[in-house]
Amino acid sequence: MSDPTRTLAEIGEFPMIQAFFAPLQVASAAGVVTGIGDDAAVLAVPRTQHLLATVDAMVEGVHFASDADPFLLGQKALRVNLSDIAAMGGQPAWYLLSLALPGATPEAWLAEFVRGLGVAGEAFGVRIAGGNTTAAPAGRSIHVTMFGLVSQARALTRAGALVGDRILVSGTIGDAALGLAVRQGRLVVEDEADRVFLASRFDLPEPRVGLGVAVSDAAAVHALIDVSDGLVADLGHLCQASGVGAQVDVAKIPLSEAARRLLAQDAGLLPLLLTGGEDYELICTAAEGALEMLHTLARQAGVALTEIGVITEAPGVVMLADGQPVRLEQGGWRHF
Ligand SMILES: [Mg+2]
Repeated sequence: MSDPTRTLAEIGEFPMIQAFFAPLQVASAAGVVTGIGDDAAVLAVPRTQHLLATVDAMVEGVHFASDADPFLLGQKALRVNLSDIAAMGGQPAWYLLSLALPGATPEAWLAEFVRGLGVAGEAFGVRIAGGNTTAAPAGRSIHVTMFGLVSQARALTRAGALVGDRILVSGTIGDAALGLAVRQGRLVVEDEADRVFLASRFDLPEPRVGLGVAVSDAAAVHALIDVSDGLVADLGHLCQASGVGAQVDVAKIPLSEAARRLLAQDAGLLPLLLTGGEDYELICTAAEGALEMLHTLARQAGVALTEIGVITEAPGVVMLADGQPVRLEQGGWRHF
């Protein structure tokens, strides 16, 4: 039986897979012809669909702190990948998990991590199809490869934005950057409800899967991306891929109540809101005539879409506040 004080080195790899990962698969195995336990998974891709594939790494000391809650980490490991599937307009289907963990990791850590995977998998209808576990000398690494399905020729890429398109963004921007600053003790937030809200936006991002699927069916939507590296950087990626530029009215960028309150106290937080990563909201560009229909689709998907600017011929992303370009030191999260 399970003994939370045991370490992974004491359990061994195969009993660990049996105890933790096999049950995760049995719970929901739609489309998995052959799953955990063979050399490779066999997955049933419907004839009319294209397969989407994405991979993301979460590394201790880079993406999460040593004392981060494993239950939240398990959920987040899926949620960041779910966001990438959403950002192509796809329906998430399966994932592969590769874990590198020090042998001294307590069994209780893995049990909580797997519980997080189960909760997120259930919530978003995505199933484990296989994985790999290995010992690491120090520091935990979590790699999730996720597969999604999208109707043929319906995947929405970053390329395709047209001059004159309106730029829309889902949810609110900048909360995760504030939440990380709170978590790291770089930002003091007096109001407890605000503090909890901002930290949860960093810990448990909300992948906009329903919205992504809905807009992939709308011909007037021309380009789609998710905000992982920051609004300015990711809008820049979209513009670069599309060969266009963007002009954004900073006053129109949707902010949470908590972010608004903090910004009112310290206007110097604005660059952090615009360039901070990990919001996992969606940015799309669409023909002006489609805005009303898009707002309806978003309402049905349970999230707001806000128009923040327009696609321009001149390259680059210009952020305008009171008609003046805002100077930003840093374009967004840089990986190296
Ligand atoms: Mg992405």
